[in-house]
Amino acid sequence: MITDKKGFIKRFILYLLMLLYITAGCTQSKSVFVEQQEYMLGTIIQVKVYGSSKKKIKESLEKAFRRVEEIEKKFSVRIPTSEITEINEQAGRSPVKVDQETIYLLERSLYFSDLSKGAFDPTIGSLVKLWGIGTESAQVPDKNILQQKLRTVNYKDLTLDISQSTAYLTQIDQQLDLGAIAKGYAADEMKRILKEEGIETAFLNLGGNVLTIGNKLDGSPWKVGVQNPLTERGEYIGIVPIQDEAIVSSGNYERFFEQNGVRYHHILDPQTGYPSENGLISTTIITKASIDADALSTSAYVMGLKDGFALIESLPNVEGIFITSEKKIFVTSGLKASFHLTNEEFSYEKR
Ligand code: FAD
Ligand code: MG
Repeated sequence: MITDKKGFIKRFILYLLMLLYITAGCTQSKSVFVEQQEYMLGTIIQVKVYGSSKKKIKESLEKAFRRVEEIEKKFSVRIPTSEITEINEQAGRSPVKVDQETIYLLERSLYFSDLSKGAFDPTIGSLVKLWGIGTESAQVPDKNILQQKLRTVNYKDLTLDISQSTAYLTQIDQQLDLGAIAKGYAADEMKRILKEEGIETAFLNLGGNVLTIGNKLDGSPWKVGVQNPLTERGEYIGIVPIQDEAIVSSGNYERFFEQNGVRYHHILDPQTGYPSENGLISTTIITKASIDADALSTSAYVMGLKDGFALIESLPNVEGIFITSEKKIFVTSGLKASFHLTNEEFSYEKR
């Protein structure tokens, strides 16, 4: 009996020691913090990582950033040797042999084009170039030229041959632009690499495309601010808790120019060829993959409050926050309990 009791005490002490060791290990394993920031994809990419070894984190971050460089080289319309530029140059002439990865991204683009009934359209490129929004030559285009370019916008003209790994734009002058989806893909790739490297806690921000790995060190979810579309970057209208998810916003405040007192922004309506104007000034999407959140935030923005909101509500595990020019906020059902409005100038509308 006495020996039993002694044995129990021994085991209990051993258990306590093990517990202490594990807990100490946990805190210790996340005691190092590294932040890296680089300008890529025309924006600032900022990644914060917690872990146990500074050297290891730095190596992992390096791999993740170099991967974005690779993605930029392949998908940028501003790089003359990119696969997308090659497809654009061969538009109306011949199919172009591309990487499986390019086929994947184009397939996803076509999926979202179908889902949004053409509100999202990767063949918007010639119109994006014509407007030049975000460049020094941005201007309201001539109506006739705009109509001419508008005819080249049709995602159904993008033909993919999976077995041959080729992509083909059937009309001459047709141009791809993956600006509304490729940043999301790059974000997912960064996260994948960091996770493969054993990173368990990280916060990634690719110019407003935010995604996280794990929870904060105290175990609580990360809290991400939703940009106030009417003020400077960094001012929020509300906060959303995020757990291993992506949050992406599209808005008329990201890139724009003003001419004769009118604001022209970079999200174009493939129906009209003009910046999308339907009363929305910002859409935010929260879901697992950043590529989906990116494509859906642009889709919902162009679709407008009624159709865009209905689309997001219909998709499982996808949530959205819609903001109108009248400072009204609409939040999908799965977010109602967790979205926290912090700016009283905006009113929260139940739908
Ligand atoms: P989102 O709403 O996600 O997308 C808007 C962008 O998508 C527009 O700018 C346009 O490009 C395109 N678009 C507009 N309307 C539609 C529509 N209806 N359907 C589909 N797409 C539409 N910026 C630079 O200044 N310099 C660079 O060198 C540069 N390189 C880049 C390289 C890559 C690979 C990528 C993905 C982006 C790059 N960018 C660069 C940024 C890019 O030009 C856009 O500003 C950015 O992708 C827009 O992201 P967003 O989240 O603000 O808006
Ligand atoms: Mg987008």
